[in-house]
Amino acid sequence: MTRLAGTVALVTGASSGIGRSTALELARQGAAVAVVGRREDRLSDLASAISDAGGQAAVVSADITDADAAADAVDRAVESLGRLDILVNNAGLMLLGPAPGADLNDWRRMIDINLMGLMYCTHAAIPHLVKAAADGPRQVADIVNIGSLAGRMAFGMSAVYCATKFGVGAFSEALRQELTRQHVRVSVIEPGSVDTELRSHNLPAVQEQIAAGIGGIERLQGEDIADTVGYIVTRPRHVAVAELLVRPTEQA
Ligand code: NDP
Repeated sequence: MTRLAGTVALVTGASSGIGRSTALELARQGAAVAVVGRREDRLSDLASAISDAGGQAAVVSADITDADAAADAVDRAVESLGRLDILVNNAGLMLLGPAPGADLNDWRRMIDINLMGLMYCTHAAIPHLVKAAADGPRQVADIVNIGSLAGRMAFGMSAVYCATKFGVGAFSEALRQELTRQHVRVSVIEPGSVDTELRSHNLPAVQEQIAAGIGGIERLQGEDIADTVGYIVTRPRHVAVAELLVRPTEQA
């Protein structure tokens, strides 16, 4: 399937989980993909997998919590692949625990990547996306933000993670309203529990608590969210999917 032939996508947090699956899916649909993250070895493996399957990828290693580095990452992607039609803001961090007595550094780290990193990349990408919507093969461009179920409902032990993801929802909707006439669609996907490395940054006791909270259900895979991204960006030009909440069937 090559519905994205001639387009260029940039996926943040492509070195693992949902981002890796999304980069593979967009490449499968014909997009050239710039893969962004800090772990360059993982990004190189991914780029090889994409090119082995006949696609095109550019490795862009960057820590996008730095505004200049995020802008530079977007510039490098456009320089390597020639344009930018699709931005998938996926990079994120989830550090859970009680708010009283929490390490403020953990809170800052989540805000820096889940909100600021997403905003820095978006800010840098908008001029390219507006141009792509005007002169691109699809006459439309996309920003897909990976929010969370925790951006719809707040849970104890997740105060700041939820705050960042509610923020992603608010930012996405406001931006969507601003970019309608330029044919840049802004979408937010809110996944439930996905089997990735996301939990692994927490202390073992917290990881056990998260697992117990979810129960022994069959979780989503990164590919399930990648498939959702693929659906959103292949809608006809006049159809904008603003928001999608995707849960594992067994998740209450
Ligand atoms: P992973 O931990 O597998 O992926 C997170 C990605 O973010 C990594 O590729 C990491 O790359 C990247 N990242 C983190 N910090 C930075 C940084 N400073 N600069 C650049 N990249 C960074 O988890 P998921 O795939 O699950 O997470 C992807 C998104 O999905 C996140 O926004 C998460 O909040 C959201 N989500 C996940 C859910 C789940 O259950 N897994 C549920 C709901 C939402 P690197 O370390 O190489 O920089």
